[in-house]
Amino acid sequence: MIGVLALQGDYEKHIHILDLLKIQNMEIRYSRELDMIQGLVIPGGESTTMTDLMGRNGFYEPIRNFAKNYPILGTCAGLIMMASSVPGSRVEPLGILDIEVDRNAYGRQVHSFTDQLPVQLNGRAIQIPSTFIRAPKITKIAAGVEVISKYQGNPVAVKQDHHLGLSFHPELDNVTLFHEFIFKKQLMDKPTPHHHAA
Ligand code: GLN
Repeated sequence: MIGVLALQGDYEKHIHILDLLKIQNMEIRYSRELDMIQGLVIPGGESTTMTDLMGRNGFYEPIRNFAKNYPILGTCAGLIMMASSVPGSRVEPLGILDIEVDRNAYGRQVHSFTDQLPVQLNGRAIQIPSTFIRAPKITKIAAGVEVISKYQGNPVAVKQDHHLGLSFHPELDNVTLFHEFIFKKQLMDKPTPHHHAA
């Protein structure tokens, strides 16, 4: 079972992608529900609002613990939430990806666009459509972080351990590749939830 954090943002689009992949999924609204899943999506939306709602619902420590054992996929605002540092903003990130992110680097002019993007995954180079909406810019990357895609020279997709962060929205172009890549293997390797004793 894969969860989609459903506090705010475009979580329904991620549910749709998981449905397309026939991956069992559920919306996550309470931190205790993390015990029922083996992977989590943090959707796009608004990272300041997510900061408030995650704080109020006591999600910070539970998600950080969850991340030690299970994969997390973050898109756009989700990527911002997974970062270690988001200077000059009141976002409190989770510190799951060892990156620094600038929320407003592209300014207001470049609100939204779709373009083809080359991605390196499992040693294969693939072209996908990608939609950027008020996209965050990854401004620093630590040694253990792998860049799997760049757009105009800037990293826009990063992988660290079992986690993936994207500054764009594959869920808006029906791109199933990333969800499949990080969750399918997880579900085969660890078929039972970690809290089941029996
Ligand atoms: N810029 C937004 C933020 O700071 C993210 C936009 C998005 O998720 N499409 O949260």
